[in-house]
Amino acid sequence: MFKKILIANRGEIALRVIRAAREMGIATVAVHSTADADAMHVRMADESVCIGPPPSARSYLSVPAIISACEITGAEAIHPGYGFLSENASFVQIVEDHGLKFIGPSAAHIRIMGDKITAKDTMKKLGVPCVPGSEGGVPDMETARTVAAEIGYPVIIKATAGGGGRGMKLARTADELERAFQTARSEAKAAFGNDEVYIEKYLGKPRHIEVQVFGDGRGRAVHLGERDCSLQRRHQKVLEEAPGPAIDAETRARIGATCAKAVGDLGYEGAGTIEFLYENGEFYFIEMNTRLQVEHPVTEAIFGVDLVQEQIKVAAGLPMSFRQEDLVVNGHAIEVRINAEKLPNFAPCPGRITQYHAPGGLGVRMDSALYDGYRIPPHYDSLIAKLIVHAPDRKAALARLARSLSELIVDGVDTTVPLFRALLAEPDIQSGNYTIHWLEHWLETHLT
Ligand code: ADP
Repeated sequence: MFKKILIANRGEIALRVIRAAREMGIATVAVHSTADADAMHVRMADESVCIGPPPSARSYLSVPAIISACEITGAEAIHPGYGFLSENASFVQIVEDHGLKFIGPSAAHIRIMGDKITAKDTMKKLGVPCVPGSEGGVPDMETARTVAAEIGYPVIIKATAGGGGRGMKLARTADELERAFQTARSEAKAAFGNDEVYIEKYLGKPRHIEVQVFGDGRGRAVHLGERDCSLQRRHQKVLEEAPGPAIDAETRARIGATCAKAVGDLGYEGAGTIEFLYENGEFYFIEMNTRLQVEHPVTEAIFGVDLVQEQIKVAAGLPMSFRQEDLVVNGHAIEVRINAEKLPNFAPCPGRITQYHAPGGLGVRMDSALYDGYRIPPHYDSLIAKLIVHAPDRKAALARLARSLSELIVDGVDTTVPLFRALLAEPDIQSGNYTIHWLEHWLETHLT
């Protein structure tokens, strides 16, 4: 087992990894920008190294600075968390070239899944159901017209290099196709330096269902059920739950087995998420995330596992500690993402936390790097806390969420907490009856 690992991240996820490592008797190294000198992850780690100025490009994304921090401190492995360098194949290659271990999948697997066309093609060959669409990239308007006519309108044009909900354009009719195609290409070029796009059938009322998978890198893999992340704003997840309210045990076992077999056949190592749109009882693969997800705690809650400790174990060459038959769903879990943002526009709201009180009690988990007097810097993501509740069933989980939110105090900045209080009063949220468009519609009618 490793003696010391470095966490190339900040905020709640850096804390999450530090906690997992400490319980395993592994020493931790935090890295931080000058803006984060007082951050909780720096305080909590055994050692810390300042790696640069506030902009991420010059600190949390600075590969030479992170590799040097490993060499100075003698850390043997790097946990990337999510975001930043977590899905950067060249970073993984450099880590390995320096004789260090990247806690996550191989550079080759990250590269395959980082290019959406290649990812879709690979999954299709592995027997995973995909959204009907173009075979590979669509080079010009003429091809776009033919493909769109074949699959039928509406269609969505997506960037192969896309991510974070960017680089997608909808064409409802043939008239809208040219504009959508050209805009998608130029936006993709500007955002990702790659203008290759592909076309998919646009699904009208799907749910976003994602399957958690885990592989040992040697051909063994399991699934840990699904999460429903349909509540989204601008393609960004806002609330996640497991199990999915629309998925029964038989469906879970079926799609789960397909996903586990696919990642096992790939020889995939560590945690991964296979994302689907789910409509009329059918799953359609959209992408695979080759890292730990923000919403991983809901899965940990219902399966009683520690995914981060498992990532570290498998990276150290130890066998996985669970078999498929050990993984049994227990109860229901819900996570809400608490952002420092001002409603109704969700404008980032950095600033000083004057008072912070976290909820507690049975089945309540608060993953946050906040503390009294902490100053949220303006340079990074606005996620400041994840509140996760676990209860015997969905109804009890919703009640526990409402109760926990009533205990939570975050003063000094605006947060998205009022949004969750309002959502809990909605019959559709109480019954679990929502698709990926539900929240956008609700926000239009309730927050403007
Ligand atoms: P990103 O990597 O940018 O997050 P995804 O491919 O995961 O892109 O898609 C993000 C979101 O966009 C999905 O959760 C869904 O809301 C919407 N979306 C993507 N593809 C389609 C599609 N074919 N039909 C309808 N909505 C889609």
